[in-house]
Amino acid sequence: MAELLTRTLAQSIPKISLHCHLLGSVPAATAVELARRNGVAIPGDPDADRIYDSAAYEDLGQFLSVYDLVGQSLHTRDDFRRATYESLTVYGADHNVWYREIFVTPQPSPLPYPDALAGILDGMRDARHDTGIESRIIMAVNREHSVAEAVEFVETVIEYRTDEVIGIGLDYEEVNGPPAPFAPAFELARQAGLRRTAHSESGPPSAIEVILDELHCSRVDHGYHVVTDERIARRCAEERVPFTATPVSSDIGRYSGSGDGSHRRIREMVDLGLLVCIDSDDPPMFGTDPTNDYHAVGNALGYDLEQLLQFSRNAIEACWLDDADKQRLRARLDDWVVGCASTTMKEQ
Ligand SMILES: [Zn+2]
Repeated sequence: MAELLTRTLAQSIPKISLHCHLLGSVPAATAVELARRNGVAIPGDPDADRIYDSAAYEDLGQFLSVYDLVGQSLHTRDDFRRATYESLTVYGADHNVWYREIFVTPQPSPLPYPDALAGILDGMRDARHDTGIESRIIMAVNREHSVAEAVEFVETVIEYRTDEVIGIGLDYEEVNGPPAPFAPAFELARQAGLRRTAHSESGPPSAIEVILDELHCSRVDHGYHVVTDERIARRCAEERVPFTATPVSSDIGRYSGSGDGSHRRIREMVDLGLLVCIDSDDPPMFGTDPTNDYHAVGNALGYDLEQLLQFSRNAIEACWLDDADKQRLRARLDDWVVGCASTTMKEQ
């Protein structure tokens, strides 16, 4: 079948990034350099090209051990600055990402939380200065640790809160940490005015209702299994619950229910009227980038430019900026569409 969407066009599409992890978006060469410098052993062949080998991840646990290794390799404020800067530029602005809410998992690093946060803020500031990309932080709770640790983590997030830290997430293996027990940590965040989201990839559809009703989240990360429960899917469509889909990483992990590049769960979600956004999760770790995820979905599902732009519009609706900032992004996107149309007409 002929390629419907070129990579150049996919790259040019303005993107709003709501599902990308800091530790999963450090370029391979940087990850290797930091691990070596900070004395963290890389298992197997410490070759820069092979630290991320998506074909070799046999399960989410194996992937997460590499993810943790990157975290363990960040030892200084400047390490966090560099990781954040490169994540926001190499896997952000270079793909026309205008705005990102970046998931941050500070726990694997030995650096104290306030110093890690300071480095991340440095990286955000520098990336914005050099490229214009805007960003905020979602501090991610590790669901494989205890609920007491989750509460303690949220207390730390609140203690050192800055304007850039806008919410919390729930990450790592869902089977090892179903959402319900984490309600106290999420309630603490709610009371502090932090927004909330949670990953749900491998759990049953009912986990989505726990995330909405007991953790009081306003978004769901992944959530592909929603399509298997008609009532919950209808409810989520009516309430315009955003789902942050990550086509390539979920396809490799088989979580989108296909594993064959068809991305059919995402099509089903769109067809059910759900508010779906597209992002790239842990781009270099899964051999992808923001352009590639739009490109893959566009070609697999036969979506045209307007349909792909809808993912970006959905992400503007789903993001946690205030209404004035969302309106500014919408207007900028509308201007981009007008500019794109006039360029196309000139070329004809
Ligand atoms: Zn994720």
